[in-house]
Amino acid sequence: MRLTRIAAESFPLTTNMSNSRRALKEIRITAVAVECDVVREGKRLVGYGYSSFGRPSCHTQIRERMAPRVMAAPPEALLDEAGENFDPIRIWSHAAADEKPAGHAERSVAIGTLDLAVWDLVAKIEGMPLHRVLAERYGGGEVRESVFCYVGGGWYRPGQTLADLQAEMRAHLDAGYTQVKMKVGGLSRVEDCARVEAVLKVVGSGDHLAVDANAVFDQRMALERAASLAPYGLRWFEEPCNPLDYEAYKAVAASYGPPIASGECLSGAQELDNFLRYSALRPDRDILQLDPPLSYGVTEYLQILRVAQQHGFSRVSLWPHGGNLMSLHVAGGLGLGGSESYPGVFGAFGGFNREVTIERGYARLPKSPGLGFEEKPELLPLLRSLI
Ligand code: MG
Repeated sequence: MRLTRIAAESFPLTTNMSNSRRALKEIRITAVAVECDVVREGKRLVGYGYSSFGRPSCHTQIRERMAPRVMAAPPEALLDEAGENFDPIRIWSHAAADEKPAGHAERSVAIGTLDLAVWDLVAKIEGMPLHRVLAERYGGGEVRESVFCYVGGGWYRPGQTLADLQAEMRAHLDAGYTQVKMKVGGLSRVEDCARVEAVLKVVGSGDHLAVDANAVFDQRMALERAASLAPYGLRWFEEPCNPLDYEAYKAVAASYGPPIASGECLSGAQELDNFLRYSALRPDRDILQLDPPLSYGVTEYLQILRVAQQHGFSRVSLWPHGGNLMSLHVAGGLGLGGSESYPGVFGAFGGFNREVTIERGYARLPKSPGLGFEEKPELLPLLRSLI
C-alpha cells in the first residue's frame, strides 16, 4: 500500500461580501488531492481537502516542501502498525519535517490542508465517515448522529438595508437554524447597534445571536464596544481584538460578562497555549474556534484539544470555524461544542453536502465514507480536476 500522487492547486472565490476589516473578493482556496494504490470499484482511492477560508493560497508550500517530503518517505513509514491503512500522524510528521520553529501561519494551512486530505483517504479506506473514525479513535467511542450548528452570516454587503439583514436572518431560522452570527465593527457604534437590535427582533433574544468583529478593535475601542453590547446578553462576542494582543483580551474578559470567542486566526496548539496562558479567557463560558485546515489539521486538533483541557477548557468549549464538512466532521467526531455553517456563501466551497439536513439547530452528520465531498456535486468536479 502506497501513496501514488499528491496534487495541490488554488482557485478563486468570487464574492462581494465584507467583514469589518476587508472585502473578501481576493480570497483564494487551495485544494489538495492525495491518491493511493488502493482500488475500489475500479478506481484508485483519492482523499481531498481544502484550505477553509481566510488565509492566502498555500499550494506552493505543498508542492515545493510538504508533498516531496511525504512522497520521498519509504512507503511502509507512512502506514499504521498493522500495515492496513495510512497513518495520518506519521504522514504529518514527514510533511512537517525540517521546518523552523514558530512562524506557524506560513505553513499551518499547507500542512493542515494536506492532513485533511489524508484523513479523508484514511476514512475512505476504512469505509466510514470521518466523524465516526475520529469518534472511535479519540472521541470515547460515542458515534454522534448530529452536531449543533449556527450560521456565520450577517456580512456587510453593498447597499444592504436593515430589512435585508432581517430577511437574511429570517431565512436562516426558516432553514432550521436556531442560532445566528453577524458582523460588527464595520460601521459606527450607533449603526452597528441598530443592526444588532434589528436582528434581535428576528431571533427573539440575545442567546440566539453572536457577533463577530474580526479583530478590528484595539483595546480601548474593544472595551467601549463591549460595554455597548453587554446589555444585549449575546451568545458570544467574537474576535474583539487581534488574538496576539493578550492584554486586550485580558481587559475585555475582566469587564465583559457574557462569553467571548476567539481562535480562528490562531495557527495550532502552541499559539493557543500562549493565548490561553496570557489572555485570561474564562473556561466556564468562553469559546475557542481554531479551524482544522488553517491550524495544522485534524492531527494537530488532538493537541489543540489537549492544550485547551490543560487550561481548564472542555471539549464543548471548542467550536471550529469554517462552516464546511471538515469542521463538521471534527466537531462531531471529537464531541466538540458545535460547528459553524455557511449556507449559500463561498460558492462551491461553502456549505456541507446533500446528506446534511438541519433541524432545530442541529446538522445531521454525513454517512458516506470520508469527508463526503463525493456528495457535494457543485464541488466534486473541481476536486477531481486535481488528479
Ligand atoms: Mg470569525
